Amino acid sequence: MDKKRETGLDSEVRYVKGVGPKRAEALARLGIRTVGDLLMHLPRDYEDRRRHRPIAGLRIGESAVVRGTIEVVEFRPTRRRGVGMLAVGISDETGSLSLVWFNAQPAWQRSFPVGGTVTAYGTVNFYGGLQIVAPDYEVGAEPSESDKFGRILPLYPLTEGVTQAVMRSVALAALSQAAGKAEDVFPRAFLSERNLPDVGHALWNVHFPKSIEEKDAARRRLSYEELFVFQTALALRRAAIKANEGVSFRVGPNVDRRIRRLFPFPFTAAQDRVIAEVAADMRSARPMNRLLQGDVGCGKTVVAVYAMLAALAESSKRRQVALMAPTEILAEQHYLTLESLLDRARLRTALLTGALTPGGRKKVLRQLARGELDLVVGTHALIQPDVRFGNLALAVVDEQHRFGVRQRLALRRKGPPPDVLIMTATPIPRTLALAYLADMDVSVIDEMPPGRRPVTTELRLPGAWDGAFEAAREELACGRTVFVVYPLVEESKDLDLTSAKEGYRELSERVFPEYECCLLHGQMLPAAKRRVMEAFRAKEYRVMAATTVVEVGIDVPHATVMIVQHAERLGLAQLHQLRGRIGRGEHPGRCFLLADPTTDEARARLEVLTGTSDGFRIAEEDLRIRGPGELLGTQQSGLPEFRCYDFQDVSILQEARDDAFKLVSGDPALAEPQHALLRKTVVDKYGKRFIFADVA
Ligand code: ADP
Ligand code: MG
Repeated sequence: MDKKRETGLDSEVRYVKGVGPKRAEALARLGIRTVGDLLMHLPRDYEDRRRHRPIAGLRIGESAVVRGTIEVVEFRPTRRRGVGMLAVGISDETGSLSLVWFNAQPAWQRSFPVGGTVTAYGTVNFYGGLQIVAPDYEVGAEPSESDKFGRILPLYPLTEGVTQAVMRSVALAALSQAAGKAEDVFPRAFLSERNLPDVGHALWNVHFPKSIEEKDAARRRLSYEELFVFQTALALRRAAIKANEGVSFRVGPNVDRRIRRLFPFPFTAAQDRVIAEVAADMRSARPMNRLLQGDVGCGKTVVAVYAMLAALAESSKRRQVALMAPTEILAEQHYLTLESLLDRARLRTALLTGALTPGGRKKVLRQLARGELDLVVGTHALIQPDVRFGNLALAVVDEQHRFGVRQRLALRRKGPPPDVLIMTATPIPRTLALAYLADMDVSVIDEMPPGRRPVTTELRLPGAWDGAFEAAREELACGRTVFVVYPLVEESKDLDLTSAKEGYRELSERVFPEYECCLLHGQMLPAAKRRVMEAFRAKEYRVMAATTVVEVGIDVPHATVMIVQHAERLGLAQLHQLRGRIGRGEHPGRCFLLADPTTDEARARLEVLTGTSDGFRIAEEDLRIRGPGELLGTQQSGLPEFRCYDFQDVSILQEARDDAFKLVSGDPALAEPQHALLRKTVVDKYGKRFIFADVA
């Protein structure tokens, strides 16, 4: 049977010419199972080998193609038997250069006939003269006949057993067999309006472009497509949420006045603006789906409390509100804050965490289901399957710095859709928000409450570490407290713990023997954690050795120093979160990043933190260096990673987003025949992860 005709994008990759069972196995390690996967295994970079360069014009350190006449071939045996150094001197009209191989075999000399022509590609360096070590080369052939020269070559991400040459040849085979069969999710007119190539051309040109312009156009098109498909999913989800009849709250001037009176301070301008946005959503009958971003300590919780009180203001409606926090410590802290604010409000409140006894939990669940509680604060315990609300009208999710898409949905699914407000202390750069959060409305608090001094941050390189402990000692002498943070060592919880435990021992025995030290880590039982935290807050302990668990929700006004060990192992956003834990009282905070950065780049990255306290700038930097996965926790959150789009070009993202939302607003179920393939693509890709009850 004609193999070529049979092979489509869904075919297994072993149907590609040149791919046997062994290669198929190796390719699977790269996530390549089908022909389509192979076509979408995109080059990470390209080598422009179209034209050779005059030798005289070469610069040290650049990679280039040279072409010249072989003048002299020299082999020098080394002490190791059977191999030696091979130097092939070549020249063109402008100059000369050596091609050099160490560990060459004597027989290689015969491949270089003096007087013949050689073409070579590699990095130019200088060692008594210009040279290229271990170049890719070809003797004789004209560039036009070569598959290595005279063209732009793709460089692929590889795995063991798959070389660039193999990847190139299987990509070429897959393109010849299947690129013509790729169906376009976009109608032709749609593409030409936007000046985008069709999918077949885009696939060819992304792998084997004839010009840089062709390559850029192809990548643009493929980026547009993956963005468009995801944006369509988000648009559908947004439409599905907003299509519901939600709760319409009465949030008027009276309610506003009553709530504001509860706070001992006036709100900041940013809080006022965000409260107005939230209140407008709450008045609307469409369910609120809003994300509230702002640095730790900017006053998000105050906004959330405002929303909760506003939701409960009409007591005759017997509505319920829930606040979900990522940890027990944080849930308790929220609960205490609320109780102190609400002691005059006569609300029925409860705390629902894993720390409740079975009997206590049963009671809370019964009261929740019967509507006998107005307000419940909790952890994940709130979204267990047996939790039922009598009349949940508003859910606030404090995610701090994680995005639990699925958790949000779980909370949403209990009964008729409540308004949802999600708080996060991770500043999300605009590009990421555009790409991932298009189904939500976003509010930003970009102002700190008055009187907050930013934490002073110092980067300390090896040799200057002791000074940080001296500074801590001075603060301890003034009655303040100190955090010493031990970040994750590699990807192992056990090692993580070991380093914190060892650190704790060293701190208590050698560094600060005169002060009480304690240890806090993620694997402690909640009750033990709570005991340590409370004792630390009461200054029974003065120094806390901790894993990165302290980044979440610890509020200790007298903590003024934080020393972060191995700061180079942490993301900037995470370090920024960590330092938000100190200087929360009347005394300013000092953060010391003890680091041993191995590159200038790593060092420059850490210096961003010493220069700014602007969380958005820090997040942009993190995005640039570490990519979106790290910042959003795409792994845990179920958000997709893009294969082609690299977050460099905002305009294509904006365009894809606008186009997708426009298309969905015109055809909300993607029912029109020309959208059938798009609909199938969206559902295949995202249908499981997102809920489109009315589409999928
Ligand atoms: P976030 O939730 O963003 O971390 P919080 O709402 O917990 O911030 O506020 C941090 C601290 O600042 C709290 O102690 C809070 O009482 C205080 N605060 C919040 N808003 C104001 C304000 N407008 N004026 C003065 N203090 C404020
Ligand atoms: Mg808070």
